[in-house]
Amino acid sequence: MAAKILDGKRVRDEILAELAPRVDVLKRKGRPPGLAVVLVGHDPASEIYVRGKVKACHDLGIFSEQITPPDTVTTAELEAIVNELNLRADIDGILVQMPLPPQVDSRKILLSIHPSKDVDGFHPCNVGNLVANSPGPRACTPAGIMELLRRYEIPVAGRRAVVIGRSDIVGKPMALLLLHQNATVTICHSRTVNLAEECHRADILVAAIGRAALVTRDFIKPGATVIDVGMNRLTDRGELERIYARTPEKLKQLEQKGSILLGDVHPIDGPEVAGAFTPVPGGVGPLTIAMLMSNTVQSAERRLAPGPEPR
Ligand code: NAP
Repeated sequence: MAAKILDGKRVRDEILAELAPRVDVLKRKGRPPGLAVVLVGHDPASEIYVRGKVKACHDLGIFSEQITPPDTVTTAELEAIVNELNLRADIDGILVQMPLPPQVDSRKILLSIHPSKDVDGFHPCNVGNLVANSPGPRACTPAGIMELLRRYEIPVAGRRAVVIGRSDIVGKPMALLLLHQNATVTICHSRTVNLAEECHRADILVAAIGRAALVTRDFIKPGATVIDVGMNRLTDRGELERIYARTPEKLKQLEQKGSILLGDVHPIDGPEVAGAFTPVPGGVGPLTIAMLMSNTVQSAERRLAPGPEPR
């Protein structure tokens, strides 16, 4: 039987449609939610990501402000910008786009964001909330994956989940969110011995590695749910010919665009062996911005609700 495609765009649209009336309520109460995006310098990839985030705000009626310090900015100057945003009543979320230039202490900047405005969920306070399973903003990509699993009614409790990757932004929060939903979780990484064997035990396999098509058929238990977080742009014809050996027609895209976007899961093996899988593109990618919007709306709701200022 063909694997089920887990459509990230559909889930994104559902999440955004559910947020729209909540934004309207906030507007009626006084003001729209507000997101400040700090983009240092002119990194082309960062500019594309930020454009996507600002457009999503605009489409949903969230106020957004882009602050673009030059790439010569110092840590102290950037801290001052963040501190000013921390104090602004019209801003509910602050996002500092990474990577920052080498002269800036990224850790200091992350720590300077008020935890209640940390819509990326990266501040140590919010990481602590995640570990303790207490309320607080969650890292957007793993939170989006949990939404996808929930909305496709893929059972998590009691299932064996394997997460490949242990980064602070994807792998670790992903593993904790699955654990809090009562999965039995294994985290794998570059030093894992017998990686394919570990992965083959998974009912839910999440690949967050950054290595194109590393997860081949021998990693996947037949019928498993396979979530592919990887985004790898490949231009090397030889490598792509190896990956698409059985479906050379796919290489047309290379001729047309000069590159092909691939996940960490082999694009032919994954759908052949898995029971359900997220395609690349169109799987996990669209969920990240939707969850950023969700974190921003939630932050505004907490702020506009009567009661003490949230920490
Ligand atoms: P990262 O910080 O580079 O972490 C990669 C992880 O993969 C590390 O834990 C590393 O292990 C592990 N790893 C690397 N090579 C491996 C191998 N050969 N075998 C097993 N494990 C290996 O990357 P990230 O930020 O988590 O991102 C991972 C991928 O997801 C990237 O392709 C990124 O572009 C993509 N991404 C997508 C979205 C989205 O919205 N779709 C969001 C974020 C990230 P060690 O810890 O041992 O080094």
